[in-house]
Amino acid sequence: MKFNRGQFLKLTALSAAFGLGGKKAISLIAGNELRAAPGTSSAPAADPKKRWGMTIEMGKCKEGCNECITACHTTHNVPDHGNPKDEVKWIWKEKKSKIFGEQVHPYAEKNGDKPFLYMCLQCDEPPCTRVCPVNATFPREDGIVMMDFHRCIGCRFCMAACPYGCRSFNFRDPRPAIKELDTSYPTRSMGVVEKCNFCNERVDKGNLPACVETCPEKVLTFGDLNDENSEIREILRTRETIQPKTELGTKPSVFYIV
Ligand code: SF4
Repeated sequence: MKFNRGQFLKLTALSAAFGLGGKKAISLIAGNELRAAPGTSSAPAADPKKRWGMTIEMGKCKEGCNECITACHTTHNVPDHGNPKDEVKWIWKEKKSKIFGEQVHPYAEKNGDKPFLYMCLQCDEPPCTRVCPVNATFPREDGIVMMDFHRCIGCRFCMAACPYGCRSFNFRDPRPAIKELDTSYPTRSMGVVEKCNFCNERVDKGNLPACVETCPEKVLTFGDLNDENSEIREILRTRETIQPKTELGTKPSVFYIV
């Protein structure tokens, strides 16, 4: 098997970082050449005609309300270690200035830097998936950026590549830190990366993501961006929306109404 310069460097890095034998590192890199096909165990069937997206109207979000976060984290067995150092999060509140940077001017004292809901933006051009050496993260045909927890080797290349800081790493065993175990969703182990999956396991059954369904204020709207008659398209047609770091060309599928 021949390698180009990039693959050779990756091979060297993998071998050095994880003490992998040459054969193991080569098989990991070779695996990366095989993009996960829809319908395989790594890529659940997705409708290629659909393109899932979400709008978030922060003006409607009530201060102190965390119902969507609780619903998401309970549904997905997200651990709570009780300290920020080991924090694992799928959806959370982040300062607006941290998400949008210079778009927040210093005179907007009252609402200028209020916390915004934040999650993986399910980029159309996701830089995170391109750097994974083992295909543990990959885009589905409907745009959902997936994680295969069993494949993840914990190299954290995806975390370095995500310009939005939307991925978490399990520095500790997450299982003892799960408050209420939901046996219908897999747990993870130490050394694995995780993030929001747009609730693909619910969406595939025709349900809304847990956060969208739970929010009492209807802050979040989820729908098919390819469907001109969908509610989300109506919102995007009629309301002004913003997205973080659009200059990077990542094309997020999450839009903020401010
Ligand atoms: Fe990947 Fe980050 Fe984009 Fe999510 S927000 S798809 S983790 S680059």
